[in-house]
Amino acid sequence: MSNYRPLDISFARGEGAWLWDQSGERYLDALCGIGVTGLGHAHPAITQAICEQAGQLIHTSNIYNINKQQQLAEKLALISGMSRTFFCNSGAEANEAAIKLARLHGHQKDISEPRIIVTEGSFHGRTMATLTATGNRKVQAGFEPLVQGFIRVPYNDLEAIKTVAEEHNDISAILVEPIQGEGGIQIPDADYLTEIGQLCKQNNWLFMLDEVQTGMGRTGNWFAFQQQDLLPDVVTLAKGLGNGVPIGACLASGPAADLFQPGHHGSTFGGNPLVCNTALAVINTIEQDKLLPRISQLNDILLQGLQQKIGTMDAVISIRGQGLMLAIELDRPCTELVSHALKLGLLINVTTENVIRLLPPFILNDEQAEDIINIINDLVRSFLEES
Ligand code: PLP
Repeated sequence: MSNYRPLDISFARGEGAWLWDQSGERYLDALCGIGVTGLGHAHPAITQAICEQAGQLIHTSNIYNINKQQQLAEKLALISGMSRTFFCNSGAEANEAAIKLARLHGHQKDISEPRIIVTEGSFHGRTMATLTATGNRKVQAGFEPLVQGFIRVPYNDLEAIKTVAEEHNDISAILVEPIQGEGGIQIPDADYLTEIGQLCKQNNWLFMLDEVQTGMGRTGNWFAFQQQDLLPDVVTLAKGLGNGVPIGACLASGPAADLFQPGHHGSTFGGNPLVCNTALAVINTIEQDKLLPRISQLNDILLQGLQQKIGTMDAVISIRGQGLMLAIELDRPCTELVSHALKLGLLINVTTENVIRLLPPFILNDEQAEDIINIINDLVRSFLEES
């Protein structure tokens, strides 16, 4: 169907941070399939995990115990501090699970039609409930009637949430991204999440974080919420969890972890041995290769380098980012930069029309980081001269 507008290129193979197109041309991947392949392409440990598991057992069903799923749930609990996990196949599905938890929690509080607080500029997926939760009219337009049960506030605005708490008694949860990804790499104030956590405690709301894009190391910690001293009730994951195999997860802690009872939710493919063994290999590799500190180091290299080269230009509004989730915001629309970059051998993305988004792999070497800086410098300079 015509729901995508693909660029005129197709890749034949990849290795590490490199991709090759059908005609053998090489490209540096600073996008990772939108934040997915953090370990790069054809990582030997991931290939091995997929091949070994495929040779043993790909799928049974959640009507049986799944050993690898239990191992992965235990590992996720260990690195997150959360207690239990529901496995699915995508970020939207992980958020659907979170939304269902919020509804169950609301009904437990005797609210007949519970609502979830969501933010402007957010992105939570393309299913009916998650596109309703998404704070972008373009994603919703044409799909009305939308799902009921959401109330929207501006992002990074604690007062707006406090006002909702004062004026409404039908709220059961808040769902928010620690950093808005699709919304243009928007980083909230340092106390934003902590304060939301406190408001959630005071009001008995579930504190639900969409870490589909920020999670699994992308921001330099396993999870973005770990930059503060807090523990959410629900955390959703996908993207980097499987390095490209489709897996999503909804983690919960405290009473939220026991809301789902048999029959409440499910997925045929969710948490099958193949995807779980792959995700275990992703976590082990990030641990063994000490990639989390490396992500923070790469953040310094890239932010400093970009700042030095183009940071003082009038048209550059801001260069920002946490870990390997980086943005260069220009004062004008620049979507054509995606195809210009491709011609220079670099994969990037533009969100909200004027924000160049970089989501490079964790295995980037210093030379590749320098390449990204230099190509972006050329790209932005020639674009600004011409526009
Ligand atoms: N949540 C966030 C924060 C995302 O960035 C995305 C995808 O970009 C999603 C949810 C949806 O994930 P998926 O496309 O796997 O359904």
